[in-house]
Amino acid sequence: MRNLLDFDFDSAHIWHPYTSMTRSLPVFGVHSAKGCELELVDGRKLVDGTSSWWACVHGYAHPEILTAMEKQLHQLSHVMFGGITHEPAIELCKKLIAMTCEPLTKVFLCDSGSISVEVAIKMALQYWQGQSLQGKSWQDQSSQEQTTHQERPLKQRILTVKKGYHGDTFAAMSVCDPEGGMHTMFGDALTKQSFVPAPQTAFGEALQADDLTAMRDILSINHHEIAAVIIEPIMQGAGGMRFYSADYLVGLRALCDEYNVLLILDEIATGFGRTGKLFAYEHANITPDILCLGKALTGGYISLAATLCTDNVAQGISQSPAGVFMHGPTFMGNPLACAAACASVDLINRNEWQAQVAAIEQQMRLELKDAINLPSVKDVRVLGAVGVLEMHEPVNTAELQQQFVDLGVWVRPFANLIYIMPPYVISPAQLSQLTRAMKLVATSIKASSACAEPQLISHG
Ligand SMILES: *Cc1c(COP(=O)(O)O)cnc(C)c1O
Repeated sequence: MRNLLDFDFDSAHIWHPYTSMTRSLPVFGVHSAKGCELELVDGRKLVDGTSSWWACVHGYAHPEILTAMEKQLHQLSHVMFGGITHEPAIELCKKLIAMTCEPLTKVFLCDSGSISVEVAIKMALQYWQGQSLQGKSWQDQSSQEQTTHQERPLKQRILTVKKGYHGDTFAAMSVCDPEGGMHTMFGDALTKQSFVPAPQTAFGEALQADDLTAMRDILSINHHEIAAVIIEPIMQGAGGMRFYSADYLVGLRALCDEYNVLLILDEIATGFGRTGKLFAYEHANITPDILCLGKALTGGYISLAATLCTDNVAQGISQSPAGVFMHGPTFMGNPLACAAACASVDLINRNEWQAQVAAIEQQMRLELKDAINLPSVKDVRVLGAVGVLEMHEPVNTAELQQQFVDLGVWVRPFANLIYIMPPYVISPAQLSQLTRAMKLVATSIKASSACAEPQLISHG
């Protein structure tokens, strides 16, 4: 029998995501993982419904990713990226440029999703600093007034939609949902950004007439202050697992063009096949100016993110006062992470995910649909390899977590959402075990068992 972990030490000294150090919540000790199963230290095996926060799309201990990482570990685990380059970074960036849309040609490699959002926002701000220095006449098709570049206020504000989630660092927090996010805690320290209501038209539906009205209004009035719009395409993840119409993105791209504002797409959650397309922007056939990738980039084996941009954005940044892009983390382009990402992207490029995600989608639709009859369930929705039960009330995560473990699955609900985003390689039997557990747990919830904890927007 394996030694159990020092849980007392853990609860006394180690922070877990979004938790208190004085009122710790239960944690489960994981010993190892293989395929779609986590093995707990007590030997129990759990079918994984989360892909470790949406990243581990090929399953755990995939031989090809392990081999690539082992080889890289011995050859070159890390080296600074200033003044140095290496094969894993070059290979990965070639692959990313080839698989994303044509206009995206420049890649910035960084440590995590939140940082890739920081990088994207900095890119947008530096781009417009460059534009104002050029002294070329300001072409403002939307208003009669003739504004010269000297009078023009810098475009340094970010516009976004409510119910979004873009990470936990400061610039990222500033564009998270202003009500459910961390604005109430850090409000005064956060840059004030502009918000419009979240997209209302559901995925697969034609755009409701007024869905982009607030966006259009704010752009038409304030476009000279707005550097970029940032949005999660098609699926708003940690802000509520909401799927919205591709038409919304089509309209948004047109508005950004009309009002001369950059479009940043945050595909950290949606990228690499999760919504049924390789990238969610493909549902709308649009292209962003800046794209954030993370989570599944390395197949969930090690932290890495990337921010891609167009030639135009890169040009603009070189015309900024700094003349260079001002970011350079210590572990930028980490070779070990790049090697993992190369192996993961190679697996993605074999395109088996397409049939896998389609099959997962179909099975989840079939198996989850009757959950709508449960009194605690408000909505059931499925898109790609994402299955969601939206409850009427916020759930008690710790309590439900224990129930799920007792049922032999790893599902981690948050806010009023019981959802799964399983690895693409999950078997039909394992997936059935997940959907069955979701319905059993939802059945056990009485209308009154709402949780009193504050409900933050986070994937915690
Ligand atoms: C998870 C997530 C982030 C933050 O990524 P981290 O790696 O946790 O910093 C940003 N944007 C979206 C859409 C995400 O889902």
